[in-house]
Amino acid sequence: MEKIDILSLSLAELETKILSMGEKKFRAKQIFEWLHVKKVRSFDEMSNLSVQFRERLSGEFCINQLFVARRLESDIDNTVKYLYRLSDGCFVETVLMEYKHGMSLCVSTQVGCKMGCRFCASTIAGFERNLEPSEILGQVYETERDSGKKVSGIVLMGIGEPLDNYKNVLKFLELVSAPEGNNLSLRHVTLSTCGIVPKIRELADLRLGLTLSVSLHCPDDKGRSEIMPVNNVYNISELMSATREYIEKTGRRVTYEYAVIDGVNSDRKSAQKLASLLHGINCHVNLIPVNAVKERNYKSSRGSALRFSEYLTEMGINSTVRRTLGSDINAACGQLRREASE
Ligand code: SAH
Repeated sequence: MEKIDILSLSLAELETKILSMGEKKFRAKQIFEWLHVKKVRSFDEMSNLSVQFRERLSGEFCINQLFVARRLESDIDNTVKYLYRLSDGCFVETVLMEYKHGMSLCVSTQVGCKMGCRFCASTIAGFERNLEPSEILGQVYETERDSGKKVSGIVLMGIGEPLDNYKNVLKFLELVSAPEGNNLSLRHVTLSTCGIVPKIRELADLRLGLTLSVSLHCPDDKGRSEIMPVNNVYNISELMSATREYIEKTGRRVTYEYAVIDGVNSDRKSAQKLASLLHGINCHVNLIPVNAVKERNYKSSRGSALRFSEYLTEMGINSTVRRTLGSDINAACGQLRREASE
């Protein structure tokens, strides 16, 4: 019989399991604390439980672990990129970034990605599998352990499409914010999507406090479909109405991501189309000079992004040019891969 992945269980689920083992309910809370507050990696460390009970626990459950396969530290900023090996030998990348207000972690949600965005490295080796809640959470806990730093913000912007692994991502959000556990407010979490419309709607109904970030990248269907195949399934007008609904239901401002690519979407006309698309929407535009991916030929510069930002300002749309972190270690947006060899 396969052991149960205990780090993927909510406190309520753990209580049910512990009760069914004939133990008292409060034991579940103690175990949950060991796992999510003290963040131990073995049942042996749970010193307020009897040796016998700990043995029973390790017979029934496993504590899913990630191993640091490689750690790359940026010379230009304090960004650290981790390559994690999962229990089945797959790999994912995680990026730790330092900001004025604390440490932010960019986590992966899938091994590879099916979405096929032309400018993104994560999609090149294809899709392997979804990450378990414990494996998304494990990136947070293992990075904290390795770096000795507390993660105070999380962006779901690593490898994979979070809304294509909806169930496990929601479970991760529940676990990472559990008051009896890690207790990170979802206000400090951003989920980025390429635009899986039905899931944006489902997420809106949950009214979680997180920030939704939408990867738009192009203001017209023809151009967007060329660089983002998902647009053939959910086009811009469907995407815009879903995000408008999200804003209405949650009262939260949405962020639109726009990777500025020279000769593709960086001209004044694109800015005009973008401005009319976003007119009257409570949003912010994040401009990213497209990052280099060796298999692709897309180019940009901070200059192009700044110019595009000026066009938008003239048209009454707020935007910021995102600071690129960790580009010397291929840790910037769209540069993450699921391979051990690079
Ligand atoms: N699948 C999700 C989250 C992962 S990507 C999504 O699509 O939103 C995180 C962000 O980086 C997205 O906005 C993505 O479009 C952007 N991105 C991907 N490749 C990039 C590149 N080469 N340069 C700049 N941004 C890129």
